[in-house]
Amino acid sequence: MRTLDLGDAEAVHLPGGDFRLDGGTMFGLVPKVLWQRAATADEHNRIRLSCNCLLLKAGREFVLLDTGFGERFSPRERTMYGMDGEHTLRGSLAAAGVATEDITLVALTHLHFDHFSGCLVEESTDLAPLFPNAVHAVQRGEWDDALAGRSTMRSSYRPEELHALARQVEMRFLDGDDELLPGLTAFVTGGHTRAHQGFRLEAGGHTLVYPGELIPTRLHLRPYWNMAYDMFPYQSLTRKQQFTAEAAAQGWIVAWDHDPDASWSRIVQDGEHFVARDVEL
Ligand SMILES: [Zn+2]
Repeated sequence: MRTLDLGDAEAVHLPGGDFRLDGGTMFGLVPKVLWQRAATADEHNRIRLSCNCLLLKAGREFVLLDTGFGERFSPRERTMYGMDGEHTLRGSLAAAGVATEDITLVALTHLHFDHFSGCLVEESTDLAPLFPNAVHAVQRGEWDDALAGRSTMRSSYRPEELHALARQVEMRFLDGDDELLPGLTAFVTGGHTRAHQGFRLEAGGHTLVYPGELIPTRLHLRPYWNMAYDMFPYQSLTRKQQFTAEAAAQGWIVAWDHDPDASWSRIVQDGEHFVARDVEL
């Protein structure tokens, strides 16, 4: 279990499960001859990805950023998405010694199933919140789009699950950039979805940022390596360039939501390029 001691706060990487998506879709415009040098495709052209959830401990607050795809998929879906079942968010939390009841805030970048579905578990025939005492925060625009099915892929959202969650926990709907807790802010990135958001924690003189799908893996630091799933590709391109330049200039620690081999990195400018370096505190 990887942890970052930020002085006033601690960040814990919680593996929420590995899965596989088509490599072509993950890198959009980039030809396979280029991306296959960096990411190995399986016999179905899929590459390995992880759902990296982040636990932030600050005082009495236990904050969870994203919840992965959860545990409720059929064998057919598990095969289709190459879900390996080795890690679950529930198992990772238990390994970190944190009870699900202790989570005070769940903040979601967006509501695609690989970020949201881990919020809910199956109890007898019903869906129950895994974090019953947590306020669940999401952008109102994302919530509205998810319920209306405004998406490049309809299967990305599960509206009946959103209703099940909202019935059972306290929701906090955000209208743009906002402070979630002292030191923890949400910022809208757009790009991947209209109201997709990232999170920034200031603690102990450090800045830790979780940009979500704005830069899902270290490979996506390259300007044109963007997902074909993005609703607003040009926004992804421009916002990402702005973000990486700022992250490098300010020395932010950036946590990756889907990188299978790294939890977080620093961004360093190397000539015209931005590259990821291991974090040493
Ligand atoms: Zn995702």
